[in-house]
Amino acid sequence: MDASDSSAQWKKGDSVPYSALCKTFDEIEATTKRLKITELLTKFFRQVLLLSPSSMLHCVYLCLNKICPEYEGKELGIGESILMKAVANATGRSIANIKTDCAQIGDLGSVAEASKKKQMTFGSGKVLSVEKVFATLKEISGITGASSQAKKIDKINSLLVNCKGSETKFLIRSLEGKLRIGLAEKTVLIAIAHAAILSNAAEVKTWSKDKLEKELENGSAIIKQVYCELPNYDLIIPALAQHGIKALHDHCKLTPGIPLKPMLAHPTKSLTEVLNRFENIEFTCEYKYDGERAQIHRLEDGTTTIYSRNSENLSAKYPDIMALIPDVVAPGVTSFVLDCEAVAWDIKKKCILPFQVLSTRKRKDVAIEDIQVSVCLYAFDILYLNGKPLITDTLRARRQNLRDSFLEKEGKFCFAKSVEANSVDEIQTFLDESVAGNCEGLMVKTLDEGSSYEPSVRSRNWLKVKKDYLNGIGDSLDLVVIGGYIGKGKRTGWYGGFLLACYDDDSETYQSICKIATGFSEEDLKQHKEFFEAHKVDTPPSYYKFSDVPNIRPDVWFKPVQVWEVKAADLSISPVHLAGQGLVDLSKGISLRFPRFIRIRDDKSPEQATTGEQVATMYRAQNLNTASGPMEEDY
Ligand code: ATP
Repeated sequence: MDASDSSAQWKKGDSVPYSALCKTFDEIEATTKRLKITELLTKFFRQVLLLSPSSMLHCVYLCLNKICPEYEGKELGIGESILMKAVANATGRSIANIKTDCAQIGDLGSVAEASKKKQMTFGSGKVLSVEKVFATLKEISGITGASSQAKKIDKINSLLVNCKGSETKFLIRSLEGKLRIGLAEKTVLIAIAHAAILSNAAEVKTWSKDKLEKELENGSAIIKQVYCELPNYDLIIPALAQHGIKALHDHCKLTPGIPLKPMLAHPTKSLTEVLNRFENIEFTCEYKYDGERAQIHRLEDGTTTIYSRNSENLSAKYPDIMALIPDVVAPGVTSFVLDCEAVAWDIKKKCILPFQVLSTRKRKDVAIEDIQVSVCLYAFDILYLNGKPLITDTLRARRQNLRDSFLEKEGKFCFAKSVEANSVDEIQTFLDESVAGNCEGLMVKTLDEGSSYEPSVRSRNWLKVKKDYLNGIGDSLDLVVIGGYIGKGKRTGWYGGFLLACYDDDSETYQSICKIATGFSEEDLKQHKEFFEAHKVDTPPSYYKFSDVPNIRPDVWFKPVQVWEVKAADLSISPVHLAGQGLVDLSKGISLRFPRFIRIRDDKSPEQATTGEQVATMYRAQNLNTASGPMEEDY
């Protein structure tokens, strides 16, 4: 039976057949056109809203391959060996045969689907519903302890036995933690908004084409803004059903306890660039502290949580900050959300220590009495105070609120050092001071005009000036390690180099950008060897884009699990690498010249790596003043 058969019988009030969702996934997989994908998903969501509205939340989660809000940190990502065993069990094939097929096809989902097709036995004939699949996936993610592997396999089999057609493929991919159909979260958000608007058929009928387009655009903007402030579908989807899209933002706003996506900055290459950008606009320069971003939430009941740049709960890593907070809150302050940088602090010399020192702190279950590296918190923004979001206030007003609501404590809690400089000389002096004080450079921010806090946006109202990158490429890049080259000579036994990739969020692919072999200490090489041992894959996943030429193909492929900060001398058009392919040159991509490893970025997930679009922007900025035009690398 094909995935569409049971979906054809989907009636009002039924739960959503899993086959209907998988049919949509099949259609999405068959195209790369973003508009088409949006249209297909909108059509599916409209049906869900019409026939089974209570299933909308589960459908959204399955489209995103999530089982709960991201910041809760529960992921599927079941290990390959468990999944292979489950597929072997469910299809009666040997694990060895499944492995061989996988090495050839590169996708366990497709192998499972083909294996099921060959099978002579049939399942119970039960129709799987989206609810059932979602609930089982959630159960599987919660299984821990003794014999958890067998229990997980049992649960997976209970679904597999009833899967038909492409349901098998997508179930396996969901369990692996990646659907690989090119469905990005922003497309899911737009489709939710479009479906909500179009479901109101009576009203839509009265609109002109222009009006409809405008409404769809507004709806998309509303839901994206809401999601940046409140990244929690458990709250957004029911609120959408109850209040509609237009009123959604009135009911879903920044809320303490739910980490919002942080505002990001644009890189700059010169101080004159800063002055040009902010001509006739009041701006402020702040030290750019080099530590770990900490978003601190305090609820009315006193509950405090520290979140990373990546919305990971860091409260157990920083019990010292947790203990400090009550001492630095001014009287009358009940609830807040603070944006800060936690920086390593030398208690004896009373000065900031470099990031490398902070990175030696344990990440989990830190006992306050065992802490070796002290931290000082530098607060640079306040986003919520005493029951009210502040993000639409000006930075000037937010900064005043910050200073009125907290008390500085030397070496523990300080306000980010700032100055209202106006000339290149003044900014340069402040920049030199910041670097002498172990900071990375400056953050330059508008104070009034356009100075609202823009969650998740890489805003031109925040410019970062990193001393090391002035007159260079403007910034370091955060890249994903996708492969390794076996070391020779002094590096025998380790990897001698690695293949790095940027992330293209539109196509959900990792595009190779350079090989890297410099910047590693012996300790780094040892650590990388150990770490990647557990993340090897036999074949490159289908979502890796690289030129399959001998000079590039790594000896070993890795899953996309780690992000590295990398410095480079410059960027060049590349005959072999594919970063930002098509954005600067019609067919070629961009590559880094003289890349150097700086550090592991534990606070970024692979999908938050530098994007192909950003690489292209950096390349264009670099070449603005190059009369000779774009450089081409030889390889
Ligand atoms: P990006 O995604 O922009 O590359 P990133 O996480 O790599 O961001 P940076 O490029 O170093 O970080 O710049 C932004 C970071 O600087 C913020 O995420 C924050 O952690 C840090 N920071 C330090 N001081 C400040 C400040 N005064 N204002 C804002 N951010 C600051």
